Amino acid sequence: MGKDLRKQSFETLAIHAGQEPEQATGAVVVPIFQTSTFAQEAVGKDKGFDYARTANPTRKALETCLAALESGAWGLAFASGMAGEDAIAHLLNTGDHVVMGDDVYGGTYRLFKRIFERHGVGMTAVDMRQHAAVKRAITRKTKLLWIESPTNPMLKVIDIAAMAELAHKAKALAVVDNTFASPYLQQPLLLGADLVTHSTTKYLGGHSDVVGGAVVGNSADLHERLKFIQNAAGGVPGPFDSWLVLRGAKTLAVRMERHSANGMAIAEWLAEHPKVKSVNYPGLASHPQHALARRQMRSFGGMLSFELKSGGEATAKRVAARTRIFALAESLGGVESLIEIPLSMTHGSVKGTKLAPPAGLIRLSVGIESVDDLIADLAHAIG
Ligand SMILES: *Cc1c(COP(=O)(O)O)cnc(C)c1O
Repeated sequence: MGKDLRKQSFETLAIHAGQEPEQATGAVVVPIFQTSTFAQEAVGKDKGFDYARTANPTRKALETCLAALESGAWGLAFASGMAGEDAIAHLLNTGDHVVMGDDVYGGTYRLFKRIFERHGVGMTAVDMRQHAAVKRAITRKTKLLWIESPTNPMLKVIDIAAMAELAHKAKALAVVDNTFASPYLQQPLLLGADLVTHSTTKYLGGHSDVVGGAVVGNSADLHERLKFIQNAAGGVPGPFDSWLVLRGAKTLAVRMERHSANGMAIAEWLAEHPKVKSVNYPGLASHPQHALARRQMRSFGGMLSFELKSGGEATAKRVAARTRIFALAESLGGVESLIEIPLSMTHGSVKGTKLAPPAGLIRLSVGIESVDDLIADLAHAIG
């Protein structure tokens, strides 16, 4: 990224950061460098690329763009959100301890609980809205706070700046999973976080056609250590997947505007619906952390969850099967609207634990279709 690009606005960076016309041909769009290796002029004399696990020009363009969008100094792309999270977890040593939100992505909980606990990394899950509880959970061994906001699927909003401060007091790293908000709505590094991670499968890619991950930060030391892990463990995205995320990111700003407008309209409509018991959406004035959300986020995005007054799990499943535009599917953040039942689908790994969401909770990933069509679809399904 050129120095002057730093000053440009989000919308411009999304289209241009790391994406200058290609030198050999002038191609305006970054080519898919589908190659595993690069010819060297003499031993050790290459053009910045030798083997594609270590670096690939398409991936490099994406990494530069991701850094710019999160206002970071560097970015690293991974084969999936979980591969990026796994790389961060590999910063830890046996005996270290992690404090995480009690409402984090189920796969994050599973990674630490089922894999890193076996390697002697302890973890405590707490409600990060309760700052005193977070303080109590931090021990001398705590090296990392894992923060997600808004959370999945309850849409709790966590005070990122306050959590980063608590982490730094304990000499621990503050890591934010920014998948739900996307860098357009919220930039955790500017709020004091040390690392930001994404499932680029979601809003950054935006079209439900690629699985990918990202880690962005400012510290040169963390960059060196994570780049080493990325290359040594090898969870890198291929050039075509990198290209798909890069292409998706170009339209992130306009997509997020529409996701937020549609999300808000649907949340308001659901809140008024006689059969709906509760709606979780940070944009509603009734949301317990609405004021914090207004401070921390540009707008409120396309994710929301709700419960019906009666029927519980069975009724929720029936509603989810009756929509015609909202596809019954896991994942989120694409242009198309999705509906799912977290406990039976995305959050199966926390079933039976204190982290389990209500069985009748319905989660929506509101897409960018016509909001009138979406509301008519939900009206029909709820009946
Ligand atoms: C999907 C998701 C992940 C995991 O990403 P993958 O790309 O599926 O590996 C992590 N965090 C959040 C919040 C997610 O939604």
